Order: sequence, then C-alpha cells, then structure tokens
Amino acid sequence: MSRRISWKFFPGALASLLLASAPPLAAQDFDAAAVAAKRLLAELVAADTSNPPGNEARAVAIGAGWLDAAEIPYRRSRFGEGRENLVARLAGDGSARPLLLLAHIDVVGADAAAWSTSPHQLVEEDGYLQARGVADDLGMAAVELVVMRLLAEQGIPLRRDVILAWTGDEESGGAGVRWILENEPESIDAEVVINEGGGIRLDEQGEPRRIEVQTAEKIYQDFRLVARGPTGHSSVPLPDNPIYRLARALTRVDAHRFPIRVLPTARANLEARAALESGERGGAMRALARGDDTLAAAALLDADPQLAASLRTTCVATLLSAGTRVNALPGRASANLNCRILPDSSPKAVHATLIEIIDDADVEVEGLPEFGFGVPSPLSGPGPDAIREVAEAMWPGIPVIPFMSRGATDSRFLRARGIAAYGISPIAVAEDEASRAHGVDERIPAASLRPAVEFLYRMVVRIAGEGSSP
Ligand SMILES: [Zn+2]
Repeated sequence: MSRRISWKFFPGALASLLLASAPPLAAQDFDAAAVAAKRLLAELVAADTSNPPGNEARAVAIGAGWLDAAEIPYRRSRFGEGRENLVARLAGDGSARPLLLLAHIDVVGADAAAWSTSPHQLVEEDGYLQARGVADDLGMAAVELVVMRLLAEQGIPLRRDVILAWTGDEESGGAGVRWILENEPESIDAEVVINEGGGIRLDEQGEPRRIEVQTAEKIYQDFRLVARGPTGHSSVPLPDNPIYRLARALTRVDAHRFPIRVLPTARANLEARAALESGERGGAMRALARGDDTLAAAALLDADPQLAASLRTTCVATLLSAGTRVNALPGRASANLNCRILPDSSPKAVHATLIEIIDDADVEVEGLPEFGFGVPSPLSGPGPDAIREVAEAMWPGIPVIPFMSRGATDSRFLRARGIAAYGISPIAVAEDEASRAHGVDERIPAASLRPAVEFLYRMVVRIAGEGSSP
C-alpha cells in the first residue's frame, strides 16, 4: 500500500513575508529538486560505503561532481585509505556565524541474503524507496546538497555562510568529523548545525504527526569490572573465587537505580508528549514535568523502560568473561558495564558511584576510553525557532518535541565545541521505517523527498537568509 503525504503549499504572500528578501520558490522548483535528490540518492546508494571499510571517497567524488556542476566551492579531506570527507560552502555577508548542514555518508553493512532487494541499489516499490542508507543517512545527505544547489541557483542573499559537510565513519567512532575538527576546525565552525538524530514522524495514514528534534545526547561510557583470585584444581575450592566476587558486584549494580533528574530537554519533551497522551499516563507525564509527584513518576518509569532511560543514568552488564577450563579455578573474571549517562553528569562521577555501590576494593572498576560528548543544545535560538516556524507553516498545529537521544551521533563532537546541534532529518518517516535503520529492508516513503527539500530549504533561508531575524 502506498502512503501519500499531504502537504500544503504556502500562499505566496505569506511566504514572501516569512522569507523577506528571499524570493519564494515556485512549486515546480521543489518538484525538480526532489527529482534531483532521488537521482543523487541512487548514486550514493550504489557507491556502497558500508563501514567497515567505508570507502567514503566514492560518495565524496559523486558529491564533488554535483557541486562542480552548480559551481559551489568545496574541499575534500582524506582521513584514511579510500576515506574522505566533503565540505562545501556558500558565502554569506558575514554578519552572523555560519549554519552547518551535516550528514554522514558511511552506512552500516547489509546482509544481502536477508534483504528482499539488492541493498546497494535504490529500488522504488509500493511507494517506498528502499536501499541501505536511505534513512541513515544518505537521504539527508542528498537533500542537503540539493538545497545548497537551490540556494546557489536562486542567488539567495545570506547573512550566514551555509556549510555542507559530508563526513565519513559516523557509524563506528566518527573518525571523519574528528579529523576535520583536529585539522581544519574553521572549515565547519558554525553557530548552528542541522544533523540527523530526530525528524518528522508520520502516522499510519502517512500524515506528519509530530516532529522530534534531538537537542541532547546521553554520554556513552563503558567500564570494565575485573576480579582476580588464586588458580588451582577445581577439586579443592578456595575462598575468593573471582566469579563469585564479580557476581556479587554485578548484583549490586543491578540493584542500583541512579536518581531521576528531569533536565530541560526531558521537561520540554514530557510537556509536549503529555499533550498527546490521555488519561493517567498524560497526567503522570505532566506531574513529572512539574516535578511534584514522584509516586506517579515512579509508576510511569516502571512501565516504560524507554522513558526511564531518558530520565536517569543507566549502567547495564553487556559482556562477561571468566575461567579457562571446566576443571580449573578461574584466576580472573571480568564484565563490561555499558553506561548511558545524563549529560549534566560525567563519566568520572559515574565511575565514583560504581566504586561506591560495588563496595569491594578487590573488584577493579576501570573506565574505558571516552567516546566524546557535549552539553545539551539550547531549546530556543535560531535553530529551534526556525524549525518551529517552518513546521507550523507547512503542517499547522504539528507539535515540535525536543528529546535527548540515548545513542550518539556526530553532534556530540560539535556540542563539545559550543556549536548548537539539532538532530532533525527532513525526510518524514513512520515509526516502522525509523526502526529499520541499521536493519533489513531500510526504506523511506518516496513521497517524503519533496516536502523534505522544501522543509530544509525554508529552514535554511529562515536561519541564514538575509531577511531572517538575528
Ligand atoms: Zn546515522
């Protein structure tokens, strides 16, 4: 069954008021741009940038060709064998700091045998575009480049530079964006960045229902727990068996609950979601947002692990290893704890808490290398204001809901440098499509491309256009 997205073209008078000095585009300009975005997406998919190994230079070569055709200046940077980033820039008048459009061009590997179509070939079927990377994140990369082209073709006067950055290796550690930040940080320095992480959600009828904007990320941190003990023949059990010692430590971690803290993003999220919920659940969310009813909050948390994970730090055992033989006493037992830390705390503070709750000096608690993290982005300012205004213009009444993601994107490195990052893909998808990213038969509704181009174009003009408010 095909899904159609209804969207209303904005009346010309109001559009020109909003866009001020920028000429409003005609409907056919967006039609043509969406067709171009689909063509570019097909090329990016076919480049097969599965990471590992990445081979992002193939996608960069494609993007460079498109930018050449539009006479948009860019630079390519090499960060490994066959691996490149692409950074393009449209100059503004310099009266405000740049806007950065970010997308990663590597994709996670695809098990071709499990797919219903060939994963590295864009297929349109039943109203969907299907291939590895269409949702995460090649579709966004294509829409961003097409919007850059539109801005260049239309000669939109800009007060901010608009930068496009296609980065490699986001799916396994962010080597691409980290290379840029270490070697050419000025090339992507910006006040605001639009990146993946959230987006427009469709209901079962294919209608846009809400817009989720990622404004914060939990901090990712692994810890290794190690217990040691005397080895020997298992026919003579000894005290201090490291397996039991480690088991006791893990039981304490399991029993521990980090405190609930309703940070600004979570508060705004609960308030917005409460408006969409009825009955007890909505009431409990409102109470939690006000911070005045911990009983209701606790009940809500117990019933909803997803929600619980956005209100407190979590640590969970994910790997376990001990012993060498069935008939030998183990000399060592170890476990990995994967922690997702609220962004107002730190790996150091959680390390101290773990040592305290494990309360056993013979269990080592070792912090593994940090993954990188940054502070939450403000809930108001040029980015959020533009998102709300354009969303309201295109889909009147649609709620815009900030959220903190439990996973990590390239935004963490930019937030760490004081750049306000907003996770919002312009390509509208239903819950089902969102959950297929990284999975089998990844797809997006074909009808989402056109409103995606318009949404991002209008947002960029609102943030960076000459007529935009400071
Ligand atoms: Zn991604």
